[in-house]
Amino acid sequence: MEINNQWQTVVIVGAQWGDEGKGKVTDYYGYQTDFVVRFQGGNNAGHTIVHEGKTYKLHLLPSGVLHKNNHVVLANGVVIDPRILLEELAKLKEAGFELQLSISDRAHVIFPFQVLMDSASESTETANKFSALSTQRGIWPTYSDKAARVGIRMIDLINPSIFNEKFDLLFELQQKKLSLIYGSEVQLDKEKIRAEYVRYADLLRPFVANVSVLLNNALDNKSKILFEGAQGAMLDIDHGLYPYTTSSNTTSGGVCTGAGIAPQKIEKVIGVVKAYISRVGGGYLPTELHDALGSEIRELGGEYGTTTGRARRIGWLDMVQLRMANRINGFTSMAMTKIDVLDTLDEIKICTAYRYKGTILHEVPADLSVYNECEPIYEVFPGWLTSTGHVKTYGELPEKLRNYLEYIESSLHVPIELVSVGPDRLATILK
Ligand code: GDP
Repeated sequence: MEINNQWQTVVIVGAQWGDEGKGKVTDYYGYQTDFVVRFQGGNNAGHTIVHEGKTYKLHLLPSGVLHKNNHVVLANGVVIDPRILLEELAKLKEAGFELQLSISDRAHVIFPFQVLMDSASESTETANKFSALSTQRGIWPTYSDKAARVGIRMIDLINPSIFNEKFDLLFELQQKKLSLIYGSEVQLDKEKIRAEYVRYADLLRPFVANVSVLLNNALDNKSKILFEGAQGAMLDIDHGLYPYTTSSNTTSGGVCTGAGIAPQKIEKVIGVVKAYISRVGGGYLPTELHDALGSEIRELGGEYGTTTGRARRIGWLDMVQLRMANRINGFTSMAMTKIDVLDTLDEIKICTAYRYKGTILHEVPADLSVYNECEPIYEVFPGWLTSTGHVKTYGELPEKLRNYLEYIESSLHVPIELVSVGPDRLATILK
């Protein structure tokens, strides 16, 4: 199991349900790269940046904005709320970060009626019964309009005559949908929204570019590129636990479609794996801890959403789910995070397979009526009961913890390259 340190492109993706600590891992690799790219999702991501004692919460721009020499890119697979983007840019400017930014001409734009659609649909019975809790930022309605081919792209936004025509069409369509399907009584001010977006277009025009060309030229010129995933493998719209997913491809293949990069140009894929799992939103979770231990891990790990503040559901590490994440993503290595959160536990469990009505399952079933009745089969590991936050080298980690890590490595046949033992940048151990 060899670790590739001679990379030109690296993809960092969540291996579970999101909130694995990708922000910290990206920050770590952000030092070694020239470009940091988001390729999917929108302002439904979330990370916290602490700079000179001040805390900034970002939802759309990638974590790599911290590194002054990085060129920050929002690629075509991202959906962009211009108001949020401008707010984040203003906050960063205030903090002394002057970004070199490029936005794909093909990225789709989020409008207030799509945000409204998101919350209006959430209250319907179907949404409550079947889908994941939405962050209500207009993400899925914008992807839905993209698939319906009525969406508005950045290139449309910055071209006044095309924008006016497309905006009229989209506005009327959404207004009708909102009132006829969702019974919304909100009357949107069409001209006010149009004027607002004309202003956004003027402010964002200088950043709009053909990002696929930009990135491929950068590769030809020997630049290094980091692709930063948002959410996690189980939230991938195709391979995740549909319909409890997000609306985009959160897995490494999303880089090809979401940024215009050919598959063979992806050299390294780091799966970020948290030592336990957490998730927000609905859907069954086989290893969920409903007891006091679950609450204890939630408090120890600070498992509350960056975007929404919602308490996250907690469970044991699930190898059935991780095997799937590895198969879809092709991890070349893993970064294990939040190890320190388990420091005080007497025993630690890992789910190795599911039991469904007497049958042993080694793969995540697509049929939710089967999945919902899967019981976890556990391997139990003794806790290391030692604080790990100060440890600097792999060899100094307690043996019981190393056994636990090596069990994960050998069951996936993927090396662990980084172990994170605290939120601080220094609490990182390279293996
Ligand atoms: P993301 O959604 O995957 O990007 O997750 P975040 O970057 O938001 O990480 C979630 C939280 O965990 C943040 O507050 C991080 O500071 C924190 N965090 C990351 N790694 C570790 C770790 O190894 N130990 C602890 N205790 N906290 C961590």
